[in-house]
Amino acid sequence: MIRPETLICPKPAGLYCPPGDFYIDPVRPVARAVITHGHADHARAGHETVAATPQTLAIMAARYGEGFAGTVRTLAYGETIARDGVEVTLVPAGHVLGSAQVVVRWQGLTVVVSGDYKRRRDPTCPPFEPVPCDVFVTEATFGLPVFRHPDDAEEIRKVLRSLEQFPERTHLIGAYALGKAQRIICLLREAGWERTIYVHGAFERLNALYEDFGVKLGPLAPATDEARKSDFAGEIVIAPPGSLADRWTRRFADPVSAFASGWMRVRARARQRAVELPLVISDHADWDELTGTLAELAPGEVWITHGREEALARWCELNGLSAKALAIVGYEDEED
Ligand SMILES: [Zn+2]
Ligand SMILES: [Zn+2]
Repeated sequence: MIRPETLICPKPAGLYCPPGDFYIDPVRPVARAVITHGHADHARAGHETVAATPQTLAIMAARYGEGFAGTVRTLAYGETIARDGVEVTLVPAGHVLGSAQVVVRWQGLTVVVSGDYKRRRDPTCPPFEPVPCDVFVTEATFGLPVFRHPDDAEEIRKVLRSLEQFPERTHLIGAYALGKAQRIICLLREAGWERTIYVHGAFERLNALYEDFGVKLGPLAPATDEARKSDFAGEIVIAPPGSLADRWTRRFADPVSAFASGWMRVRARARQRAVELPLVISDHADWDELTGTLAELAPGEVWITHGREEALARWCELNGLSAKALAIVGYEDEED
């Protein structure tokens, strides 16, 4: 059997495939890149050739401009490209719109680079698809037993209950622009909130892009319209977390400040940001999803790219899985 490192190995620029001569989610410009998803730490501008799902390519173009790469190769879920005997297939990762695991096959060996992923249902993207493999490369952003994300529908009900209790207050939800904001909107719709949701201007392009790819967001309107005199009493406003402390928020009626993030599990973080209504909603696998995925796949080896590597590696050891931490520098999943 070929050593898996012959097929995929960590380099300073990221995970590299020597026989196929490409990188996966490189953190610096390279000749050939396969990109798992559109978050900025994984999808960077300046590569010569980029292969990714149509959604991810559209997200990159929206964020960096059409010239974000020399050439692009659109790879739909399930489609395979072969190069020098190396086959690359993208399968859903369940993380954000267009997010994919990269399945690399060569001479009977299968390595799956999962990128960022989660296992629970997300109305904005297809679910993670488990692929049997020799090596499973996983993140470990929430790789500690303390991280157990609650039911997202229950978290969203907290917002609606708060609106019933404080109908005169604006409910201002902090959410990151790619993935989280659109998922929150969809979850609010599923919970029965049919009214217009007001959104910060920073979300407009990505919201439109999600709609273009068939994710229905319902009635939205800008919350940043200077001409509008309303104080948004009793309304829901979604904005980037960084803007929650801005002067901008003064227009709102005694706002209830909420923040949707896996990190809201850590009370100190909620306090630090003066978040009144922390919503533990994450686009990453929690401890149970990480360990459940490893138990389900039972790969020959587990490689851990970033996050809380030690705890997950220790779990692997206790459960008879061989694991190693790659400690790849450059992936920042603070933005969840
Ligand atoms: Zn991500
Ligand atoms: Zn990431």
